[in-house]
Amino acid sequence: KGDVYFHHVTFNYPDKKPALTDITINAPAGTVIGLLGPTGAGKSTIIQLLMRAYDVKQGSITVDGINIKQLDVHSLRSIISPVFQETFLFSATIRDNIAYGIAGVTQEQIENAARLAKAHDFIMELPLGYDTVVGERGMGLSGGQKQRIAIARAFIKNPKILILDDATSAVDMETEHEIQAGFKELMAGRTTFIIAHRISSLRFADEIIVLDEGNIVQRGTHEQLVQQP
Ligand code: ADP
Ligand code: ADP
Repeated sequence: KGDVYFHHVTFNYPDKKPALTDITINAPAGTVIGLLGPTGAGKSTIIQLLMRAYDVKQGSITVDGINIKQLDVHSLRSIISPVFQETFLFSATIRDNIAYGIAGVTQEQIENAARLAKAHDFIMELPLGYDTVVGERGMGLSGGQKQRIAIARAFIKNPKILILDDATSAVDMETEHEIQAGFKELMAGRTTFIIAHRISSLRFADEIIVLDEGNIVQRGTHEQLVQQP
């Protein structure tokens, strides 16, 4: 289903002060949680812990009621799709980039994912379409186009949990609006965590959690938070 629950999580990296202190987040399946706060606030650490890059010793994280420590890391990660600002395309065909790491993906699935990510049209205009190799220099693709290919990859898994890490912080409001309209479709029916730097990026969030130095300093809906003095 994709219920995610952080229960009083405190975490520190080795030999450092706590990166997160007593964090409780309740994200029932299908909700959109926005994570806001300055650099170093702990936003990425929340995502790292959810993906089990590190194990939590104080507090717990459950997915669908099961402590993630009890889950096999691969099955946990198979239900989570992260999209980062850095898109990590490989020197391979667009087809392989979209299907990366998943066996038995059909051409139809690849094209559907590309359509959802609004990538199909420009891919078809490339010399070899889906067989175009994305090289180190990105084959003349723009940042936005590469991002769309990365988003298509996120769709292929049909993830229950979606992570959008800083995907729109660098663009102007108008572009962001356009991108978010696409994300809305992508987010439907999935538990989504959006990391952002400005509150205007989080209009679609059901709950916005504002972090500072590892603490939750504010939480509420977009409406509630913009009404604060
Ligand atoms: P944000 O994503 O909000 O910028 P982070 O979760 O990356 O914040 O960082 C929270 C705190 O943890 C910061 O003090 C940061 O320096 C520290 N930190 C993050 N990653 C590591 C790491 N791999 N090793 C040690 N300290 C880290
Ligand atoms: P460029 O980076 O070449 O200027 P764009 O103007 O298309 O390309 O995109 C600018 C930035 O907007 C990209 O770096 C990317 O992070 C983001 N972006 C564009 N389109 C999307 C999209 N569909 N989804 C997520 N992010 C996008």
